[in-house]
Amino acid sequence: MNARQWMDISERCLMPTYRRYPLVLVKGEGTRVWDVDGKEYLDFGAGIAVCNLGHCHPRVVEAIKGQAQRLLHVSNLYHIVPQIELARMLVEYTFADRVFFCNSGAEANEGAIKLARLYARKFVEGDRYEIVTMRGSFHGRTMVTLAATGQEKVRKGFDPLPPGFVHVPYSDLEALEKAITPRTCGVMLEVVQGEGGVVVPSHEYLQGVARLCWERGLLLILDEVQTGMGRLGTLLGHESFGIVPHIVTLAKGLGGGVAIGALLATEEVARAFEPGTHASTFGGNPLACAAGKAVMEVMTTPGFLEEVKRKGEYFLSRLRDLASARGGVKEARGMGLMLALELDREAAPVINALMEGGFLTIPSGEKVVRFLPPLTVEKEEIDLLLAALEEVLP
Ligand SMILES: *Cc1c(COP(=O)(O)O)cnc(C)c1O
Repeated sequence: MNARQWMDISERCLMPTYRRYPLVLVKGEGTRVWDVDGKEYLDFGAGIAVCNLGHCHPRVVEAIKGQAQRLLHVSNLYHIVPQIELARMLVEYTFADRVFFCNSGAEANEGAIKLARLYARKFVEGDRYEIVTMRGSFHGRTMVTLAATGQEKVRKGFDPLPPGFVHVPYSDLEALEKAITPRTCGVMLEVVQGEGGVVVPSHEYLQGVARLCWERGLLLILDEVQTGMGRLGTLLGHESFGIVPHIVTLAKGLGGGVAIGALLATEEVARAFEPGTHASTFGGNPLACAAGKAVMEVMTTPGFLEEVKRKGEYFLSRLRDLASARGGVKEARGMGLMLALELDREAAPVINALMEGGFLTIPSGEKVVRFLPPLTVEKEEIDLLLAALEEVLP
């Protein structure tokens, strides 16, 4: 079947929740993907920061193949070897003492919010359940994570949303401090806002947030669904800012393309959960965890993350050159390999022209072109994208 035939069925049978590009992708390898007609693209979106090791990384594919032949699913009524192995690696390489596995970013954030409330109920005086989150944030599409999300456009039409969230402007420490009440149990934020337009806060701000949380006995909850897993050039994004959280959520890049989410916490906080307080049927299943373990093994290879940082700095400096040379570009920004160009006009024509030329990029709001290439992207591939940008930027 050709692309048009697939798209006809897609448009007839699937719920119209996505505005999809007219592209049917059927194969991937490294930074490259191919559509059903055999046309090749360089993927600077990586499935929205999911395929951080590139498409079909051989180590991930091998791990999945091997695990698929051994055991696909058993319940969390039993101990699960790949789940134990992945948890042990996450504990070894991050701030966390304990891990809970689930299947998506939203589900990880749901778990984080449940854990924060339960911790406050059990171990903190008073009735604290409110969580302060940020304007422009994105935490997921379930009811509670929508309530946490600070973007009106994704919340519209779904009220009443569950109470217990207060939104303040991002990068505004004073506003955060003012929003803290005797009801507050925690602060939840992204270390770099992803869906909000790749907004990088100052070190001072994030360190101020962390200090405030630790001083006031509030839980610092970091949504690292997008910034985690090497994206900013450190295994978890907050390491780049020198702060220590209580709870971190992961998903996107953790499974190398397989659905998985994780909730990481300190021992002090994790002890609020006890048998029966939280669960997920597929959470921590052998297949996803085997893939996650392969991802962790590659990312913790000495030199891997330094290379991400180096490529990110090169890419950003070249984007900055473009920004200063082009009247239509307002700013180049980002961190690691989470980068963006903000235009003075709609980004869609640029994104479409890049696609036409064989490059996949991602919008973030109306005027931002986002670049989230696989962390394994080669310098030559970055140069090809930059050359294509030269052609299509206003
Ligand atoms: C993508 C994303 C989510 C939601 O993850 P899903 O797996 O789609 O539920 C939550 N938070 C952030 C920061 C994200 O980028």
